[in-house]
Amino acid sequence: MARRKKIYEGKAKTLYEGPEPGTIVQYFKDDATAFNAEKKDVIEGKGVLNNMLSEFFMTGLNTVGVPTHFIKRLNMREQLVRACEIVPLEVIVRNYAAGSMSKRLGIEEGTQLPRPIVEYCYKDDKLGDPLVSEEHIAAFGWASQHDMDDIVALALRVNDYLSGLMYGVGIKLIDFKIEIGRVYEGDFQRLIVADEISPDSCRLWDIETGEKLDKDVFRRDLGSLTDAYTEVAKRFGVMPKQATHPTKPTLIN
Ligand code: UDP
Repeated sequence: MARRKKIYEGKAKTLYEGPEPGTIVQYFKDDATAFNAEKKDVIEGKGVLNNMLSEFFMTGLNTVGVPTHFIKRLNMREQLVRACEIVPLEVIVRNYAAGSMSKRLGIEEGTQLPRPIVEYCYKDDKLGDPLVSEEHIAAFGWASQHDMDDIVALALRVNDYLSGLMYGVGIKLIDFKIEIGRVYEGDFQRLIVADEISPDSCRLWDIETGEKLDKDVFRRDLGSLTDAYTEVAKRFGVMPKQATHPTKPTLIN
């Protein structure tokens, strides 16, 4: 069986050349990492669940007119996406204080923020993805001021869409991270949502019980990550048939 050409291997996903120019195959691994990869494990079934959930969220965004890189899911672990130039920023939107914001500002986790707050981290593992301001972004040329306006608008639309969707299944969207890609259409460039949207990149709390249904379960050793992600998938009706016992990855040609 012919192997696809690997373009990039990240912590949770591997990218392969797509079947047509301008496309990429995104393969979801079972690897879980936290604290800049200081904590690592393999969580059987995580990749399958994230593939299904990211498909679900990205398809919804495409449908309501928020452009994303998602084209279609290929199989249990792979999806076809549009190739794009990744803006080197992690764009974080917060509705409630948690994680690094709670630590940095001394705000108790779960405190509702006066309004959604958008933050940026510069994507650089060696530096531990430091928090940066729009001033840094403009001065160092990571994105233009015009790009930044588009990025904030995109991030807030994703937030509105995801918050409502989560609320409908009894989940509070505490915060999330997205990545932004640049695509070129003739002389124009457009910014789209890229990477993934999954419980790896969001904080999701059950509205009733406050139970964590996201990667904090792994970061903080709170129980079974597969059970948490399976619960999210069940609520959205996107349960893969073999979520807990997936077959080993096979790359199709
Ligand atoms: N996040 C992410 N990747 C990262 C850093 C953060 O997906 O490299 C997500 C994280 O899951 C959470 C949000 O972004 O939903 C805010 O994370 P925070 O800054 O609180 O960092 P953490 O406490 O996870 O280190």
